Amino acid sequence: MRFDILTIFPLLLDSPLEEGIIRRAVAAGKINVNIHDIRDFALDKHTMTDDRPFGGGEGMVMKPEPIAGSLNFIEEKNPGGRVIFLTPQGKTYTQETAERLATHEHLILLCGRYEGVDERIRANYVDEEISIGDYVLTGGELAAMVLIDSVTRLLPGVLGCEDSAGNDTFSRGLLKNPQYTRPRDYEGYTVPEVLLSGDHAAIAEWRLVTSVRQTLEKRPELLARAVFNKEELQILKRNSLLEAVEKYGNIQ
Ligand code: SAM
Repeated sequence: MRFDILTIFPLLLDSPLEEGIIRRAVAAGKINVNIHDIRDFALDKHTMTDDRPFGGGEGMVMKPEPIAGSLNFIEEKNPGGRVIFLTPQGKTYTQETAERLATHEHLILLCGRYEGVDERIRANYVDEEISIGDYVLTGGELAAMVLIDSVTRLLPGVLGCEDSAGNDTFSRGLLKNPQYTRPRDYEGYTVPEVLLSGDHAAIAEWRLVTSVRQTLEKRPELLARAVFNKEELQILKRNSLLEAVEKYGNIQ
């Protein structure tokens, strides 16, 4: 999968690509990330990428020509990429959006700065606007990295264990069950006995029950997306969770 990032602060984006799973994905050729300095496409000798807003008011606005120049450059070399503008005015980013974007082959991520970009770019060059949450950042670079990170880990062969993304929080309308590792006793805080039992059915039941309980407690609205098979419905019933889940979920 190819990502092109348009920014006026390219150095900001280097280090997140140089660690952990994302670094491995780059090294293995699962993703190809190209960072473009919008300044390289500025038309004047001072390489200006922003200017005062028409009509007056605070701050600066990113000029259209350098952004359009960068987009045209990418389109000429690698046509057909989906242009995403990271903006607090976009649709709020979710795991579902990450799953959808992971099916694309080429994403172009436009990072704004200052008061944002000239409206003519937004209106004529952008396919989709994404916000990573209801707060305002100083620029779109961190938002672009959030998107790249969350999409990359969904690509086949990127995570060590193929099905670990499938069990993640959000993937099936549930928060993931709690996790424990050694030691068994940490300063008097112990691990639930069932996890040490070796009884796989009991462990699976415990995982489902704790996952559903956590979801009911912290994010019950997620249950609207949850689907349970017959066996799981029996487990919910046995643990007196069916009624609570029915209130939020689409239990058949
Ligand atoms: N004046 C703009 C407004 O009120 O909508 C905010 C501009 S913000 C200071 C500068 C840039 O940061 C934006 O153009 C966008 O690229 C990025 N940005 C800020 N908050 C964001 C968010 N929640 N999600 C994605 N990008 C964001």
